[in-house]
Amino acid sequence: MKYLPQLIAAGMILSTSTIAQAAASNTDTAASTTHADSNAALAQVQATFDKNYPALEAMYKDIHEHPELAFQEKRTAAILAKKMRALGFDVTENVGKTGVVALYRNGPGPVVLIRTDMDALPMEEKTGLPYASKVQQEVDGNTYFVDHSCGHDIHMAWWVGTAEALLAMKDRWHGTLMFVAQPAEEVISGAKAMLDDGLFTRFPKPDYGFGAHIGADTLGTISVKQGVISSASDRISVRFHGVGAHGSMPDKSIDPIMQAGHFITGVQSTISRQKDPKKFGVVSVGSIHAGSVANIIPDHADLQLTLRSFDPETRKIINDGVARTAKAAADMERAPAPEVTHVYGTGSVVNDPDLAARAATVLKGALGDSRVAFIPASEPGGSASEDYSEFVAAGMPNSVYFWIGGTPPETIAKYKSEGKPVPVNHSPYFAPSPKGSIKAGIETLTLATLMVAGTDAQ
Ligand SMILES: [Zn+2]
Ligand SMILES: [Zn+2]
Repeated sequence: MKYLPQLIAAGMILSTSTIAQAAASNTDTAASTTHADSNAALAQVQATFDKNYPALEAMYKDIHEHPELAFQEKRTAAILAKKMRALGFDVTENVGKTGVVALYRNGPGPVVLIRTDMDALPMEEKTGLPYASKVQQEVDGNTYFVDHSCGHDIHMAWWVGTAEALLAMKDRWHGTLMFVAQPAEEVISGAKAMLDDGLFTRFPKPDYGFGAHIGADTLGTISVKQGVISSASDRISVRFHGVGAHGSMPDKSIDPIMQAGHFITGVQSTISRQKDPKKFGVVSVGSIHAGSVANIIPDHADLQLTLRSFDPETRKIINDGVARTAKAAADMERAPAPEVTHVYGTGSVVNDPDLAARAATVLKGALGDSRVAFIPASEPGGSASEDYSEFVAAGMPNSVYFWIGGTPPETIAKYKSEGKPVPVNHSPYFAPSPKGSIKAGIETLTLATLMVAGTDAQ
């Protein structure tokens, strides 16, 4: 995944006064008092971190070395559940298959959701790290190497570390912490599975929500974006039906490969002629399977597509365009209607503009301008997708999802001098630096929680 680095590279690191302008509708004026409190809280975060880091690092390396694929995160979930129980959280396991919900009540006040994801990817790790994964797992009868190459292992470490920090400063906040460890982010299914299993009905519905993703940006930097931060993603499969025949007798066939051909080119007019050209939208056919040999016209063709967009209107236009074009392509060949299946989808993650501006102000005040990039709503989001959007859409609009950098400056300089790109998420060489990454995540999520649940928060 790659959300915001291009904006940071383009110098979108804005000053605090620019944030105030961008958040003109923000009526909260607690920022000046929050600075001093944030600095005191930060000192407490540092002290807790120094004490707990050896254990956090051991947990991180253990999880990294034993990654698990979507909905198979049993060992991982058990580690997190055990940690949170030891801290005094009320823990429920197996929510949405392998998800974990950990609640900690600290008097009346807002319910604050802090989310991590748990799953790894079906690919072979090539980092050469001493704790590199050698694990293999099965999905649908196929065996894959498994690698935490999206960095969800870092997320789990800062998730536990944030719980530790907040519990060490219980007098600074009130309310209920709702720590959620979600399965199956990589297949955009885990958030929905948890919601379908009663996340917001069996457990309190959050007043605020925070999440964060590690990336390849400079270690310890934090990006806070207003509005849309990731794209909506829809995966669609299309099966064209035909009538098989000898390759020399096409008139005896209804050719599904012809239908697929019409469709693959025709569907791009949805992008070039139907959606607003100023709006982001992508339709990609990533897989096509039909036939076996040259002289047989097959009786069906299977295609798989990914669709990306930012706003709901464009999302509908391109989804409708795919279905309509598939039907038209079949009609052209006198074929029966194709099967168009929406395999899964999720909307864009949208950060509340006012809350994002407040968070940027708080983080800049505590961590300094050089570490925090504020990106206004007018800038586009990233093209990757993230099903944290499901929690937001299910009734948690007061939410901010952060992006945190994990590559040391000297590593970035080394790659640059060699003329190579820095490995990003999903690269087999992606290797965020644990200590600085985990610490930045804890700082961000702890300060964000204090911003909304602190004893002096409004
Ligand atoms: Zn990923
Ligand atoms: Zn990820």
